[in-house]
Amino acid sequence: MSNKTPTQYIAVRFPPSPTGELHIGNIRTMLFNYLFAKHNELTGGESDIYMRFEDTDKERSKKEFETVALEALEALGITFNHGPYRQSERGELYTKAIKTLIDTGHAYEAESSKDDPDSKVIRFKNPNKAVTFTDAIRGEISIDTTDFGDFVIARSLNNPLYHLTVVVDDIDMGITDIIRGEDHITSTPRQILLIEALGGKVPRYAHLPMIIGEDKKKLSKRHGAVTYQKFAELGYLPEAIINYLALLGWSGKDDREYYTTQELIEVFTLEGVNKSSAMFSYEKLDSINKHYINTLPKEELEAKINQYLPSRITLFVSNAPADVKDEIIHKVIKERINKWSDVQTICDTDLAWLENPMPIDKNKIVWKNSTIQDTKTHLNKIISLVEDVSVTDWQIENIKAVIWSYAEEQGKGAVLWPMRYSLTGAERSPDPFTVAYILGKDKTIERLESAKASL
Ligand code: GLU
Repeated sequence: MSNKTPTQYIAVRFPPSPTGELHIGNIRTMLFNYLFAKHNELTGGESDIYMRFEDTDKERSKKEFETVALEALEALGITFNHGPYRQSERGELYTKAIKTLIDTGHAYEAESSKDDPDSKVIRFKNPNKAVTFTDAIRGEISIDTTDFGDFVIARSLNNPLYHLTVVVDDIDMGITDIIRGEDHITSTPRQILLIEALGGKVPRYAHLPMIIGEDKKKLSKRHGAVTYQKFAELGYLPEAIINYLALLGWSGKDDREYYTTQELIEVFTLEGVNKSSAMFSYEKLDSINKHYINTLPKEELEAKINQYLPSRITLFVSNAPADVKDEIIHKVIKERINKWSDVQTICDTDLAWLENPMPIDKNKIVWKNSTIQDTKTHLNKIISLVEDVSVTDWQIENIKAVIWSYAEEQGKGAVLWPMRYSLTGAERSPDPFTVAYILGKDKTIERLESAKASL
């Protein structure tokens, strides 16, 4: 591609196989390539990023997976400046390379197996030597290629196999740095042999640590969401996904947790990549996502939450006074969610009491070692206390103020639990003052009375 000096110029590639939705491991690999290239630019170098779909597996490769891959990259802001190329459209290059290898004595046609003498394949003439390369993450690696034998590189002149297409593309695109998953380490010696035989320049390599689940097994569907699409459906923010993926196998100098993409570009180097496997933690991703939710402007947050609210709650919220609506959206819901899809869950658990009173279970309303009699007394007292709060003063702080000293004197659990439970009939809900405020004075008294009557 260039006559620039290799220290300034780097070319990397994104080579997913479009055989499924983009796996989070692929995205992590692309992100590291992207950060590596952009960091080089930031420090005065030039770089190229090539996007190519490795779609030689005709049966499993699908156009729709290309589309979702490109959409995912776009949503995440991971860009490239060449392509997308498709290996299925680059057949001539591969045929030419196979011919060259045959002409130069590096490959030959052979029977594919003893059982079927008519079917032929093209084999690489393995020089059977030790191939040594320096991996930016794992150091010097030396592998004796003798065990690979004369491996097959194509079924015919027009039907190349994986290693050949990768190598031909990497040479053609002038790739200087191959950053990919550790599972490709064993491909590297074969690919280096092919590059040497084709007279190409061997690139630098960096093999990234594997991503594993909490059971230490390779991250897969069994662990939960693993494709970008699934994470998007669950309602994670792109900036949180990027931030979390960057920390999967890489760390900055001071174990810092939050980075924007721009900040990552500034500090990312391969020296920060670890050798040991990276454990994917859904909990950690949630906490990072929550951090980004908390930084959203009020209107944006509200619009997003509204989008995920079940319609019955939307109806309630849209009829509620502005301050009640604010309390529900910006306190109750926002404080309880880690990602947008949690909105629905929270509405079903912590907010189910909103529209209709829930049935009261007599066995649940009495606090630990309190009694039915005491509980009735407390509810009576609460009713008379809140009756004194005027509708215009009906605010969380004021409701709390009239009840608090009585609760402290009688035992907070014995007083506040029956109050909260009478209002919600739920084991999980916001505190009783918030609930009373949201329900309004009339409904609060109504529900307290009806719970008392049920005792
Ligand atoms: N198509 C390969 C994959 O998706 C890429 C291998 C490589 O980076 O060389 O795993």
